[in-house]
Amino acid sequence: MTQLALVIDLNICVGCHACVTNCKQWNTSGAAGPLVDENPYGADPTGTFFNRVQTFEVGEFPNTQTVHFPKSCLHCEDPPCVPVCPTGASYKRAADGIVLVDYDKCIGCKYCAWACPYGVRELDEKRQVMTKCTLCVDRLYNEQLPPAERKPSCVLACPAGARLFGDVHDPESVVSVAIRERGGYPLMPEQGTQPANHYLPRRRTQIPIQPEQLQRVDNPLRLDGREPLADAGEPLSADWEH
Ligand code: SF4
Ligand code: SF4
Repeated sequence: MTQLALVIDLNICVGCHACVTNCKQWNTSGAAGPLVDENPYGADPTGTFFNRVQTFEVGEFPNTQTVHFPKSCLHCEDPPCVPVCPTGASYKRAADGIVLVDYDKCIGCKYCAWACPYGVRELDEKRQVMTKCTLCVDRLYNEQLPPAERKPSCVLACPAGARLFGDVHDPESVVSVAIRERGGYPLMPEQGTQPANHYLPRRRTQIPIQPEQLQRVDNPLRLDGREPLADAGEPLSADWEH
């Protein structure tokens, strides 16, 4: 069985949100960025995003790093969101493994959102139906689009090439090769959902820092009195590993 999926390279993603914006544009043709769909400046704004980038810091000073972590539906091979659905609205396609919601059948009970361990389902308050990433199924087989554009809009938008797309059951696909050769891993495998999407880990990186770069008057480390000491003439380096 074909299993389409995204593979996201955490070593490349710079958290620019181009994927978020293009996803929002394609899937709603509405306001992008942080604005919500309804009443964005009112007391009770609502809206949905299929794809979000979460940014957080890991490690301990001075060996910290900022991680940008895009997350959307992982199109699990054993999706717990499907059997809990009382109407059959949530389903997994046999042909390509994409997990979808039939909006005509959904009653907005949110059982699926409770069942999903990844928090990627969002209720459309206006229509009262559950929404989530579709892998842009309406692009993949759309013969109105040039073949090169029959991909998820997030993949097309990423300026850094951090997002790969393909069949993880085909050992020769670009995603399978990336997973195999670059240590790709699924998110929270202990949940037993077998996520189809995978992540490529951050890699050890040497970032040389010249002493003169630390001499800037606005160097925050200097202002805080935490400036690292450098041997005369020797560049400092930050050796980050994840
Ligand atoms: Fe279902 Fe959540 Fe898995 Fe997507 S990530 S298939 S919504 S359990
Ligand atoms: Fe099914 Fe819709 Fe209820 Fe989710 S919210 S379990 S898709 S009926």
